[in-house]
Amino acid sequence: MTDRIIAIAEGRHTKPLPFTGSLGAPGTVGDRLGRKIRDLRISVTDRCNFRCIYCMPKEVFGPEHEFLARSQLLSFEEIARVARVFRQHGVEKVRLTGGEPLLRKDLELLIAMLADIPGLDLTLTTNGSILAKKACALKAAGLRRITVSLDSLDDGVFRAMNDVDFPVSKVLEGIHAAARAGLGPIKINMVVKRGVNEGSIVPMARHFRGSGHILRFIEFMDVGATNGWRMDAVVPSTDVIRSIDAEFPLQPIDPNYRGEVAQRWRYRDGAGEIGVISSVTRAFCSECTRARLSTDGLLYTCLFATEGYDLRALVRAGASDTDLVSTIGAIWSTRADRYSEIRTEKTASLRKVEMSYIGG
Ligand code: SAM
Repeated sequence: MTDRIIAIAEGRHTKPLPFTGSLGAPGTVGDRLGRKIRDLRISVTDRCNFRCIYCMPKEVFGPEHEFLARSQLLSFEEIARVARVFRQHGVEKVRLTGGEPLLRKDLELLIAMLADIPGLDLTLTTNGSILAKKACALKAAGLRRITVSLDSLDDGVFRAMNDVDFPVSKVLEGIHAAARAGLGPIKINMVVKRGVNEGSIVPMARHFRGSGHILRFIEFMDVGATNGWRMDAVVPSTDVIRSIDAEFPLQPIDPNYRGEVAQRWRYRDGAGEIGVISSVTRAFCSECTRARLSTDGLLYTCLFATEGYDLRALVRAGASDTDLVSTIGAIWSTRADRYSEIRTEKTASLRKVEMSYIGG
């Protein structure tokens, strides 16, 4: 693992905005591999109160790390405006993420603005640490659903993984509060890292079976450039399914919609479903319809990108909505990303943007 401190400003590599000449109508623009834009992930802060070893390792994101200054962040008005433009391009789902999105002050105001955009499915991913306090306000502001990250029910394992000694019990309280507030069905994301939390797979399945929540196992990915990723630390989803199936028999079920990232499995005894997200062992680039907006307004067309397009500059230079629509369309039409399909140990060391900044 690197011990170099990488300032976000240093990682702000931008690509020139493309020529916006001849384009199809908004909503019909496909990229070079024929994929449409359907999802937008928005990172509302690059800060987090956890230091998960696979995401924001302490050695890199320590006290010296420079996070973005307030003036660099997109304002709520700017975010809502950009989201509205994406809606014109056919985006159906917006996910707020980060960093830890619940750390962004007055986030409920942004949620209310986004909830006002007709036809948008609005959700959020959180580490759950302050969810118990916030769940009712989030629901009241218009949030529909929520995803909570939880890597283990074993308190020792969880504290070691979040690396700030945060207890499991508080995240479980957050999950209960979210369910009571009506933010279900709740998705619970567990990143599996070999030698760290494989032992938590079956206990997690046992705990959440029959709860109505959907547990999803995510393969450890080589996002960013600082998490020390190695292929041998990835536990393939097939192994996860095999371990759970041995205790609680499973059968595969169809995706809810084309391009769904998780492969779905149901318990044969009717106790609900789980999902696996196999971005390393079974890349789903060919169906990837996601765009990502970083905390400071760079548009990325891939989670593993090294450069983004500076929409903030455009917005702050007074671009009209028509300009924004055509620029986003032009960017999307040149997209050819398929990183997970061409990943090797070599590409893993590229200087990709950090997940906390681009949004997980
Ligand atoms: N702070 C929020 C949270 O913890 O859910 C949102 C941001 S976090 C970056 C979003 C998701 O990305 C979490 O579920 C996290 O576990 C996952 N994640 C982060 N780094 C990852 C990695 N290297 N491989 C796979 N998933 C990762």
